[in-house]
Amino acid sequence: MSAEAKALLEQAIGVVCTQAKLDPISSVPIDEMQSRPSLPVHSPEARAGAERAQRLLPRAKELAVTSLRQLAVEYGLEKSPRFEKRLRQAISRVNDVKRVRPDMDSRDNASVYLSRPHVITFGTIFLAGLRSDEGMISVLAHELMHIADGDNDSLRPLVAAIGNRASDLTGLDIHGQRGEEITCDLIGAMAVRSYITDTPGYESIARRAARSIQHNCVEVDEGDEDHLSPRDTIRALLALNPVLVRELINDRQEPPLR
Ligand SMILES: [Zn+2]
Repeated sequence: MSAEAKALLEQAIGVVCTQAKLDPISSVPIDEMQSRPSLPVHSPEARAGAERAQRLLPRAKELAVTSLRQLAVEYGLEKSPRFEKRLRQAISRVNDVKRVRPDMDSRDNASVYLSRPHVITFGTIFLAGLRSDEGMISVLAHELMHIADGDNDSLRPLVAAIGNRASDLTGLDIHGQRGEEITCDLIGAMAVRSYITDTPGYESIARRAARSIQHNCVEVDEGDEDHLSPRDTIRALLALNPVLVRELINDRQEPPLR
């Protein structure tokens, strides 16, 4: 990345994490979620989150599929008949998802069990911490991308290409599972971008866009073998998504690439 691009990226991170403090319905940072006590399924916050997730699930499915198709074109895979077949199967797995299941023990995580592919299991702390439609769509689309990839990593060519590009741009090691996680995050951010276009309102574009990634604005910045640290996740995601960088800084949406 050029020095100029790096400076813009840092400026955009500043916008995301400043909005995390100013926005009354910003997403709670995941390290703060982790420090909270478990939340019963029937608590009002968990219920409100579960209702939001279930209400937005159909929209998140459409947006995740559109974003996935867009990435296949962007990464030059749409002309491969083999990949196209895998993509069709991936999309049908996404379309089969029916339900969000709130779960107290999952705390600040969301996951999909291969034995129950129609259900996204969502920790109640996470449900309560994603306080906007944008924040919720981002995480739903992330989980839907895991479902799309399936238990055989069927979208591996795309995931590997995105991981490689993210590694090249940032100098971070974003291969294997980390490549899948960043691809899921990218789908989440793209889904929110389209959602903002489709639901115009009076709120600032930068504020709404920031909600797609700001749960990563942590104080305690730790990653593991499978995940970049949250703040490196923001960095990699914005490096892959220069349009989002500009929209955060300019507080204005650019025309869609359709
Ligand atoms: Zn994930």
